[in-house]
Amino acid sequence: MPKTSYTGRHRPAAKPSRGRQFVVPVALLSSTVAGGLVIRDAGASQLSPEAAAMKNVSNSVAGLGLAADPEAVSAAAANRAGARSSRDMARDAKTLIVGATQTATQSAAEAQAAAVKAAADRAAAQKAKAAAAAKAKQAAAARALARAHRWVSPVAGYTLTSGFGFRWGKMHPAQDLACPVGSPVHSLSSGTVIFAGWSNEGYGNFVKIRYWDGTVSWMAHNSRLLVSVGETVTPGQVVAYSGSTGNSTGPHVHLEIHPDDGAAVAPITWLAKHGVML
Ligand SMILES: [Zn+2]
Repeated sequence: MPKTSYTGRHRPAAKPSRGRQFVVPVALLSSTVAGGLVIRDAGASQLSPEAAAMKNVSNSVAGLGLAADPEAVSAAAANRAGARSSRDMARDAKTLIVGATQTATQSAAEAQAAAVKAAADRAAAQKAKAAAAAKAKQAAAARALARAHRWVSPVAGYTLTSGFGFRWGKMHPAQDLACPVGSPVHSLSSGTVIFAGWSNEGYGNFVKIRYWDGTVSWMAHNSRLLVSVGETVTPGQVVAYSGSTGNSTGPHVHLEIHPDDGAAVAPITWLAKHGVML
């Protein structure tokens, strides 16, 4: 027996044909859409039952947007356009703000970097200036020290007479420099006067100066003294005028050099080592 053949008790009821039921509403809908545009504004009380029904359908259709009011549509579109425009403007403004903020941030960073660099430049310039000033000060101090520590000849115009050594069987621990009475007698360098006065040992008007390096000079037989004990003197300063006071046979400067205030040494040799050639 073929299985396609249905033999059960419950034979399925024939489905009702809906073709006709479907066609009619479509036709009705089509007509009511056209008719509804005409009757939409008519009062319900003035309409026949059929027309009222069509108005309801028409309103429903209109509610579905099938018969949208053109003005409303364009107004809505305008609203949407306006809204879109506002959004665009907001977005543009946000972009501008972000851009401006970035620009401002960048400018601030650049300004800060420039300020830091300027400060560093100023500091470097000040440092260089301070270094140059310190160097100049140091150089000036060195020059001043060199000036203060220089050695000079005791008298300008002289004749070497008795030198360092034995003379007439007696030690002469000095160099005699014959010069006219009243010749300026100079301090040999920077120092302090440790004796200035009359000598009872035959040196006449006598001056002793202790110099910056500890060396002590004796200069005797002066006609006149210009300094006193404790006075500081500079290289070449006139401390006395030459003469022939004390045990002297003629006008001259009797010069002794006592390194570290010790035993006398030959003045010519010592002065030569200090750049002074007698
Ligand atoms: Zn002498």
